[in-house]
Amino acid sequence: DLLISQIAAGEVVERPASVLKELLENALDAGSSAIQIQIEEGGVKLIRISDDGCGIARDELALALTRHATSKIASLDDLEHVATLGFRGEALASVASVARLTLTSRQAGANHAWRLVGETGATPEPAALAAGTVVEMRDLYYNTPARRKFLKAEATEFAHCAETVKRIALAHPGVAISLAHNGRTSFQLAKGDAAARAGAILGDDFIAEARRIDTGAGPIRLVGHCSLPAHSRARNDAQYCYVNGRFVRDKLLAHALREAYQDMLHGSRHPAYCLFIEIDPAAVDVNVHPAKTEVRFRDSRAVHQFVFHAVQKALSTPAG
Ligand code: ADP
Ligand code: MG
Repeated sequence: DLLISQIAAGEVVERPASVLKELLENALDAGSSAIQIQIEEGGVKLIRISDDGCGIARDELALALTRHATSKIASLDDLEHVATLGFRGEALASVASVARLTLTSRQAGANHAWRLVGETGATPEPAALAAGTVVEMRDLYYNTPARRKFLKAEATEFAHCAETVKRIALAHPGVAISLAHNGRTSFQLAKGDAAARAGAILGDDFIAEARRIDTGAGPIRLVGHCSLPAHSRARNDAQYCYVNGRFVRDKLLAHALREAYQDMLHGSRHPAYCLFIEIDPAAVDVNVHPAKTEVRFRDSRAVHQFVFHAVQKALSTPAG
């Protein structure tokens, strides 16, 4: 019911950027190859995501807004994927309980699209749309004004949204992604390879200087780019780490990277990296909250050693 959903929403819908993250993950789960994001007033007024994915059937639109009804966890095997992407079948329901949500969707082969305005008991109405889905969230926290007070200035909320998009975009270079705020394009990312995507997000200086890493040992593999910025223009937050496709901000990994960079950095230079760890899902703890960015490795020492050595070695070889 609504109250339970609103309480659950506290976990999922911390701020506009958390809504955006859930909606983006859904668009990616739907197999989209192009995603357009429009945001107004930092995401409080509007978050609109339009994708070209598989779409939602008319009769599933209402289900999509129901708690737990549509969880993608169908088997024990799937539970392991919870560690990587955090499917839990309540994101849309939670968002619908604290904002005005509209789903418009058309599956390939359908005659037209259907639209559902997210209110209990509502039935879908015919709508016009090419194949894919448009999810529109308006007026976040309109019915829970106490929550609204915790939101920061529009620019801050938008910065969180943009950062969320960048984190996801780095891990999905094969998907074209555009972002606009208050009618102005922030960025437009063409589909390409990982290096092109990293260059588009972290800057061409980054990629020009970056050392490429692609190395594995047993159940773990490290792929990506790390660089020693030549000038202080480098963003000091250009530090992206992923575990099995999911962005993480992890103390253990941060420590391994700091150590690897220690002798290489001088003065105010900041390490910049975009690194993807692929690891046997059984070697990562699945009981970590999916909305959080931390992970727990079963053998944290081995992971630390592996990442430290791989990055240190990469940094000590010349760029190019
Ligand atoms: P979960 O992603 O954990 O299943 P959500 O509440 O995020 O739960 O989404 C509910 C369901 O709505 C999804 O399982 C999916 O079937 C459907 N859905 C949501 N967004 C999209 C989309 N952009 N394209 C296709 N289906 C979608
Ligand atoms: Mg989801």
